[in-house]
Amino acid sequence: MRWALIGASTIASEHVIGAIRSTEGGEIVRVVSGSPERGAEYARTHDIPASGTSVEEAVSDASVDAVYISTTNEKHFAQAMAAVEAGRHVLCEKPLAMTVEEAAGMVAAAEKAGVVFATNHHLRCSGSHRKMRALIKEGRIGDVLSVRVFHAVHLPGHLQGWRINSAEAGGGVIPDITVHDADVVRFLLGEDPVSVVAKMAVSGMGQGVEDSAMSVWNMPSGAMVMSHESFTHPYAGSGLEVHGTKGSIFARGVMTQQPVGKITLVTEAGEEEVPFSGHNLYAQGLADFMAAVNGGGRPAADGWDGVKSLAVALAVREAAQSGTSQTVDYGVAP
Ligand code: NDP
Repeated sequence: MRWALIGASTIASEHVIGAIRSTEGGEIVRVVSGSPERGAEYARTHDIPASGTSVEEAVSDASVDAVYISTTNEKHFAQAMAAVEAGRHVLCEKPLAMTVEEAAGMVAAAEKAGVVFATNHHLRCSGSHRKMRALIKEGRIGDVLSVRVFHAVHLPGHLQGWRINSAEAGGGVIPDITVHDADVVRFLLGEDPVSVVAKMAVSGMGQGVEDSAMSVWNMPSGAMVMSHESFTHPYAGSGLEVHGTKGSIFARGVMTQQPVGKITLVTEAGEEEVPFSGHNLYAQGLADFMAAVNGGGRPAADGWDGVKSLAVALAVREAAQSGTSQTVDYGVAP
């Protein structure tokens, strides 16, 4: 599988380039950057044979099979549409787009073109989240009553750019982290939030966009979800709890890019630590993507997952802005 990278980004350099190269035959043949100098330097650093500034040129390169999009969020839509129109498979970063309509347009276009379209929601690729999902599915905690997500982190200095100061580029903690938490909850419970209430704040880091958010979601089953995201918390640690009629799952340190953390299951029988696989999250996402391309499966998070998780995040922002409860609008998502 020969890949073009669209975006000379940090996430590609820290995680996804390695994950692509971990797949059998996974090769990166070119990178697209808005700056010719930056693109060339990035290509040199990462041993990528070609760089350029034109998305059209990259996607029309007949040797390219798939495209990984990791530019700032406002660029995803046009770039994904160009890749799909050229018949390339697409792995796109979250949030898929700036609006649900755009995101759905990308995914519908990919379906029409018969190419695989995936969203890089890495958390559902982790051993910890897959284990928690299995525990819930097996009925180990009975019927789910509530979920609490703790995802207040401290944004590292090298990422304190557009994320904290540019609404135009899709900055803000809600499109950055709430969208991941929406995907996690949807993955764990297998259902999509119906409505949300929320508050958000600029609590020390954001410049024109929110850096903290808290929200409460109602699920179709009647379960309730409480979710907290922030860029400003150096020592809070991340985690989530899922409480059911027969047990509770306490997971600490699992809302991260690394295969780390601890899961504790508490039931009538007592308390047990639950082991889980320590595989690389991004490599798993790429392996699942490859399986889908080869007809042997589906991506970990497909395009519609990306659309729905975005819809939840945007409903949280709208609820916080308006001070009113919002019904999540999934648009045309099935
Ligand atoms: P970066 O800021 O690193 O990269 C985004 C764009 O900014 C790049 O495409 C690049 O433009 C430009 N850029 C990057 N570094 C520099 C620099 N030093 N000087 C000038 N321009 C620069 O963003 P991230 O990698 O953090 O995020 C990219 C996308 O990936 C976002 O959509 C984000 O939401 C998503 N993401 C997903 C994660 C996940 O785990 N799924 C984790 C982190 C991010 P150009 O390409 O034109 O050179």
